[in-house]
Amino acid sequence: MKPQPLTTAPVDAEARKAVAPVVCYPVETLPRPDLAAYRAVREDWSLVERVTVPARDAACFHAPAGHFFRILSVDGPQVGDLNLFHANDLTERFYSGKTRALVGTHVGLSDQLFSSFPTLRPMATITHDTLDWYGFDAFGGAVHDVIGTRCDPYTHSLLSDGGTYHHCCHSNLTRALAQETGLPLHEAERHVHDVLNVFMCTGFTRDTGQYFMKASPVRPGDYLEFFAEIDLLGCLSACPGGDCSTVHSSDAAACYPLMVEVYKPNRLPEGWAPSAVNRYDRTHGTAV
Ligand SMILES: [Zn+2]
Repeated sequence: MKPQPLTTAPVDAEARKAVAPVVCYPVETLPRPDLAAYRAVREDWSLVERVTVPARDAACFHAPAGHFFRILSVDGPQVGDLNLFHANDLTERFYSGKTRALVGTHVGLSDQLFSSFPTLRPMATITHDTLDWYGFDAFGGAVHDVIGTRCDPYTHSLLSDGGTYHHCCHSNLTRALAQETGLPLHEAERHVHDVLNVFMCTGFTRDTGQYFMKASPVRPGDYLEFFAEIDLLGCLSACPGGDCSTVHSSDAAACYPLMVEVYKPNRLPEGWAPSAVNRYDRTHGTAV
């Protein structure tokens, strides 16, 4: 329980609260992808890789620039935790917080996932989402969030007095990345970052602002599809929370595998080129 306020509200409290919000970033100047150009070349393609992500575990995949990749629900409702890296540089990785600030709490059709500083460029563009009908529900919940982090053994230990569970998404991603790169586990762990929660249905409670989850509306056959803007190494965990309707960080929830499919289109979208690194000059205001 949070404590009651200690401070008496000022006389103009209601007026102060009634001030209308403004969107933080002037996203009118945010370059937007030409969705029609992407969609014109999708499905005229060849499947080049299919990866099964086992329930309560993770797996890596490669999506070269100019390829599409899909994350599919297969056997049952299941949430996935996605990490993305530049295929040749693990320090360029998906930046969940800035993507949230630029795009919103949840991502969907035509939204782009941005990379970390100093590159800050689109890594992937969402080209299809079979859950785009969901929108925001009466609780303020929506799918594919960039507000959660990833279930991890440290938070679990904090909340359960030292409890251990080794199939949290953080641990799954660490093991899969270590296996993919040959890095020792403790080094691979440093590259694991806040995720895109694929298919997860989440929001913040209106009264207390607490992060909530509810049963994902995803069903077998649903998918979220991306276009790779740069050469990508992806790492996907099938969250031990399953559809995230009850609990995670244990073996209690029903859990299913996920599938990743990578497609090479027969032609590239008209006018498309791999996204360039950010143009900001890195002198940080200091002469070089
Ligand atoms: Zn998880």
